[in-house]
Amino acid sequence: MQEISNEIIISGKSIGFVPTMGFLHEGHLSLVKASKSENDITIVSIFVNPTQFGPNEDLSKYPRDFNRDESLLSENGVDYIFYPNVDEIYPNGFQTYVVQEKISSLLEGAIRPVHFRGVTTIVSILFNIVKPRRAYFGQKDAQQCAVLKRMVTDLCFDLEMHICPIVREPDGLAMSSRNVYLSLQERMDALVLSRSLNTAAGIIKSGERDCAKIKSEAMSILTQVPSASPDYFEIVDFDTFETVTTLNSKKSYFLLTACKIGKTRLIDNQLIHL
Ligand code: AMP
Repeated sequence: MQEISNEIIISGKSIGFVPTMGFLHEGHLSLVKASKSENDITIVSIFVNPTQFGPNEDLSKYPRDFNRDESLLSENGVDYIFYPNVDEIYPNGFQTYVVQEKISSLLEGAIRPVHFRGVTTIVSILFNIVKPRRAYFGQKDAQQCAVLKRMVTDLCFDLEMHICPIVREPDGLAMSSRNVYLSLQERMDALVLSRSLNTAAGIIKSGERDCAKIKSEAMSILTQVPSASPDYFEIVDFDTFETVTTLNSKKSYFLLTACKIGKTRLIDNQLIHL
């Protein structure tokens, strides 16, 4: 991969890069489309990264289907798929990790302690292998984007970060490879995430600025569904990801939620500009 990337760069062409864990859907393909429209060459990686899964998480049962992914990517005009083995990325003797300190410790990071260390490490490795001019990530994983943007700035990675909007199913469920775990009933129940976000956004639009009130409305929606057990509903500053208590005008915030539907943990968010 490094040799191919070197040749592309020497020939004066730009590389757009879309890192994924595979089992692709329209959300991933929207990143591919963005990359193709802005770069000469688009490279997609497929790697289910073990270091970002905690010991009791779904690494071994994470959905995989390389053949389907390969045809989707070739139909969508991707130039190269980087599909390494775990042993190639983490060979015997591997002992170096990248840690983003502050944003990584909040919310998802508080609940999934090794998660962002795994993400920043694999993305650094992939950036060093693929050497992209532009890298594409989804706002679906808003905290991941904030962690990675901070890492790219702090460590002077010589590339542009592009964050693309959340792609949803027609009924509002944010697309995710993990949606395949949901039973028919759970698939309906899972709409409670986007419903809680829309309700909170509506309350804010009608003038509410007290975050405690907004969060308690959203939480009451999440807890109405018997299969739903929310980890959090939070309102955070766009850049720092710190929790806020009162909303100010001319600022941007994320409404964020993580909620288990049955055994499946889903996340969703909405960006608010005041
Ligand atoms: P994953 O394969 O889940 O690690 O996701 C790979 C990339 O696709 C990440 O940058 C995600 O944020 C992005 N992504 C996942 N789901 C969506 C979605 N529904 N809309 C937009 N981007 C997404």
